[in-house]
Amino acid sequence: LAEEQRSRAREPVVLPDGRPIRIMANIGSVTDARAACRFGADGVGLLRTELLVLDRAELPSEDRQAADLAELLDAAGTGPAIIRVLDAGGDKPVPALDLDPARNGFLGLRGLRYLLANPSVLHTQLRAICRAGVGHRVSVMAPMVTVAQEMLAFRTAVDEAVASLVADGVDHRRPERIGAMVEVPAAALAADEICAVSDFISIGTNDLTGYLAAADRTLPSVADLLDPGSTAMRRLLDTVCEMAVASGTELAVCGEMAGTAQFARELIDRGVQELSMAPARIPVIKELLRAQA
Ligand code: PEP
Ligand code: MG
Repeated sequence: LAEEQRSRAREPVVLPDGRPIRIMANIGSVTDARAACRFGADGVGLLRTELLVLDRAELPSEDRQAADLAELLDAAGTGPAIIRVLDAGGDKPVPALDLDPARNGFLGLRGLRYLLANPSVLHTQLRAICRAGVGHRVSVMAPMVTVAQEMLAFRTAVDEAVASLVADGVDHRRPERIGAMVEVPAAALAADEICAVSDFISIGTNDLTGYLAAADRTLPSVADLLDPGSTAMRRLLDTVCEMAVASGTELAVCGEMAGTAQFARELIDRGVQELSMAPARIPVIKELLRAQA
């Protein structure tokens, strides 16, 4: 990018009514984090931690996880960052966890379900996140939330991780906010209940589209059913956004849909305050929203 374009890309987007829109990056590696910085991300809207453990034979230690996360946060720049706890299962195999395709598939113990069933994995990761958060503005987010009760358990797990770090006298920072991904249709239809126990929600349109259409996102044979613009998906997005706005809960979208010229504006019009996308999409979407402002 030319320098002028670059500095424009770094400026925040403000709508004519004064509403600021955060354009954030989805990252999973140091390369992504550097790209986020280069393309002018306002922060990180989704840090996919499973990518940090994918090629490991064993789950990394707390020290290692904290160091890896700190490296990513440092590379991503100075904006706020949302770290998502492990989304193991479904389309994300984690060799270190010895997942079973039947038990941990798309409809099984995936994401937060797996972590609540394996609390020591969650505890270690939350401690690592709090340690890496020193000097950064970190929020934490749970994948595959289905009912509000799971979010309450997640919040308790965050409290326990913080309390254990305090007890151990370890340098750490409590996450600024605790949020839920809305990517399961049951969570979307009960978004009011999820919002009541969350500081923010982030709609994961990749999985939401797949689960809504009962179409596996990894199967080319059903790819044409994965349509974020379908009537059903529009109605569902209307519902989630209306509920989030009515409850005053911060509302983000971090699925691929957020980074498309076709849908970004529609999401903003529904009250979405933050769009998170692949780093290379950031300058494009910022320009688009400014041009339409
Ligand atoms: C999503 O499901 O939309 C999402 C952002 O998460 P992932 O693609 O990592 O499942
Ligand atoms: Mg998902």
